[in-house]
Amino acid sequence: MTNMPELLIVEDDPQIRKFLRATLAVEQYRFQEAETAAEGIAQASARQPDLILLDLGLPDLDGMEVIREVRKSSQTPIIVLSARGQEKEKIAALDLGADDFISKPFAVGELLARIRAALRRAATISNDAAGTIFRTSNLEANLEKRVVRVGGVEVHLTPVEFRLLQVLIRHAGKVLTQRQLLVEVWGPQSSEQAQYLRVYMAQLRRKLEADPARPRFLLTEPGVGYRLVEV
Ligand code: CA
Repeated sequence: MTNMPELLIVEDDPQIRKFLRATLAVEQYRFQEAETAAEGIAQASARQPDLILLDLGLPDLDGMEVIREVRKSSQTPIIVLSARGQEKEKIAALDLGADDFISKPFAVGELLARIRAALRRAATISNDAAGTIFRTSNLEANLEKRVVRVGGVEVHLTPVEFRLLQVLIRHAGKVLTQRQLLVEVWGPQSSEQAQYLRVYMAQLRRKLEADPARPRFLLTEPGVGYRLVEV
């Protein structure tokens, strides 16, 4: 199966590496392992993996340094393996360019779903076929014509609401930090205006979700930001 994606695991904990090895082997992913940040950086550059699973607590350098180094030359998806409750750390990793995070201890199904989503996103971006029409649940958005329909009925979005939806769709499946969304939608000078985001996200949910109080696809990542998932 030489055409299966190749992953790089950067993790110093032998138990977790063993778990990852077993999980990835079942799915027939190819993979390499690195136990230190330096080794991870070297392997990422030498092997150009399709995806990197990255622990942040490494013996030599902080995993953040791996993200910083890899992002200098590559857009390979990076999924951070982080301890539960480390919101600041997750946000910093995402702001540096990590694609996603998964909290330890993680379930096999969730890990594999995140890997598939990240690989799919990377493939879409590299084919430059990001698609102008996005569909999920009963939502249909034509990004080129700027037409949004819910259950076949056109919904009017304000320009800011549309821009916010567009950014979420462009990164579908990926968690975006509040800061990333604020910068992309309102510009760098608004990076601290978290209340804009709360207000506009509530409006979008009201217009697009069947039950805005229990959103199905415009999800909150507590303490971190938001994610649009395809359902
Ligand atoms: Ca560790």
